[in-house]
Amino acid sequence: MRISKQHVIYQMHRNNPAVTRCRSGDTVVFETCDCFHDSVRSETDLVSGVDFSRINPATGPLYVEGAEAGDLLRVDILSIRLDSRGAIVSAPGLGRLADLIGKEQTVIGEVSGDSIRILGRELPVRKMVGVIGTAPAGEGVPTGSPHDHGGNLDCTEIREGASLYLPVEVEGALLAMGDLHAGMGDGEIMGAGLEIAGEVEVRVEVVKNRKLPTPFIETSEQVMTLASGESMEEAAERAIRNMADYLTQTTKLSLEEAGMLLSMAGDLRVCQIVNPNVTMRMELDRRCLA
Ligand code: CA
Ligand code: CA
Repeated sequence: MRISKQHVIYQMHRNNPAVTRCRSGDTVVFETCDCFHDSVRSETDLVSGVDFSRINPATGPLYVEGAEAGDLLRVDILSIRLDSRGAIVSAPGLGRLADLIGKEQTVIGEVSGDSIRILGRELPVRKMVGVIGTAPAGEGVPTGSPHDHGGNLDCTEIREGASLYLPVEVEGALLAMGDLHAGMGDGEIMGAGLEIAGEVEVRVEVVKNRKLPTPFIETSEQVMTLASGESMEEAAERAIRNMADYLTQTTKLSLEEAGMLLSMAGDLRVCQIVNPNVTMRMELDRRCLA
């Protein structure tokens, strides 16, 4: 099953018509545009030429049969396949060097195997999904914003091999995704990674009768709670509390002991600090869960 990138949305919204339906356990490929809707093709295509009404397209939504409000949707990121060229941009006012940026510039990176040729250097490919989420129950959320439903989380851990748990707030979940990066550093300080089109193969599963603080990530080594908020402090506080809750609900630890464990062995990290909400995550080695 495959969803072409002709089917994009700019808001995660309960009223978006589903492009297609699948069953719990099915594998689906989402073809994705880059965050500029594939409009930055060369180093002469600058940010000021980008149509901002078509930014951050997410492919979908996918209706998952059996998904009902209150369930979780588990999304296993099976594989991410990238195009051979990606783009990164600078522009005055964009990102965390905003006031220092003197000019618009676009740089194209060539992706080959495990490496990116860009800026006269070879960087390692670190493939990830920037935007991924379900439809919220209430108001729609623009695909450029992260929130509790997922969205523009820009988390480097949403990569091949990871399992992401998202809330199901509306029937069918209405999963959508886009904004792949061939590489992005924690923080995404310029507001972009190496932005690239491609496709993501996922397996989706409806999880009933299980509570998790979402968005939640499991990898072979770690569990992570993600939280978005208006400030790093607010997002960090929620990510920490969500992990503490998870520990008290799934282990015999008291809240005090859970806090001690996180203080000794948990890592508080930045996902991104450039989107309309910032996103932080609390990471814990799975060996600490026993
Ligand atoms: Ca993004
Ligand atoms: Ca991006």
